Amino acid sequence: MKLCWFDLNRLGVVAEGQVFDVSEALASLPVPTYPSPPGDLLVANLDVVRGAVERLLPNARAIPLERVVLQSPVAQPSKIIGVPVNYSEHVKEAQADVATFTNRYAGPIREQGLFLKANTSLVGCGSPVRLRFPDRMTHHEIELAVVIGKVASNVSRHEALAYIAGYAVALDMTVRGPEDRSMRKSIDTYSVLGPWMVTADEVDDPQALALALQVNGMPRQTSNTALMIMNIAEQIEWASSYYTLYSGDILMTGTCEGVGRVDAGDVMDAAIEGVGAMRVAVEAASVA
Ligand code: MN
Repeated sequence: MKLCWFDLNRLGVVAEGQVFDVSEALASLPVPTYPSPPGDLLVANLDVVRGAVERLLPNARAIPLERVVLQSPVAQPSKIIGVPVNYSEHVKEAQADVATFTNRYAGPIREQGLFLKANTSLVGCGSPVRLRFPDRMTHHEIELAVVIGKVASNVSRHEALAYIAGYAVALDMTVRGPEDRSMRKSIDTYSVLGPWMVTADEVDDPQALALALQVNGMPRQTSNTALMIMNIAEQIEWASSYYTLYSGDILMTGTCEGVGRVDAGDVMDAAIEGVGAMRVAVEAASVA
């Protein structure tokens, strides 16, 4: 099932180029308390919501995909985790251009560690990436995003895939420079998630998915998730050994070679086999 948030907090199921409005399924969610527990309420109750969605679907209103604004398919993650240097060809291109990528690409993945992106950087593909610092270099990084489905702490790699609710396409947008990753990758709109979340049951092998990104129709990044240095199960094991993962937490699993600059006016097309394809505009930010 491909679940999306669209327009103003509408819940949808995507099929055959249409969005079926199943927002009434949100009534099946428990009433939130305050302070609410960490994690995304919908993802934490995905089984209940799916049941309600399936009952609503036969009579749901259909809207052509191109007529809706897609929001992030995870509304309220407790955190967004990034995996650096996870494709060897990307590591090579970064090491070959120290002026752009800085010397932080020197160490192996376990030495460099995971990083966190601010939740407030998260947008759906219906929103443009807004460049706050047009004088600095902003790069695109296409990544397979994993959405955690249940509370995970000290999970072994052998059980890790059972903790996944679904997958999405992610853009880990990045300003290059000397600051910590968490700052450079946390600018508003610099975490794009979309076009929807495909539930885990629809992806047979997340380590065998082609991924591709074009800018203005020109190929930039092309690879396959089979080429990750640290696979998804190990990533969940590693991440959950440091911090508890909650439903809706987003793991950006690293980018492949071909990262490059975008400027205002550019259009990015990002696609991952079996997950989805999304078009994202790049604009100048008007900082109020
Ligand atoms: Mn990245």
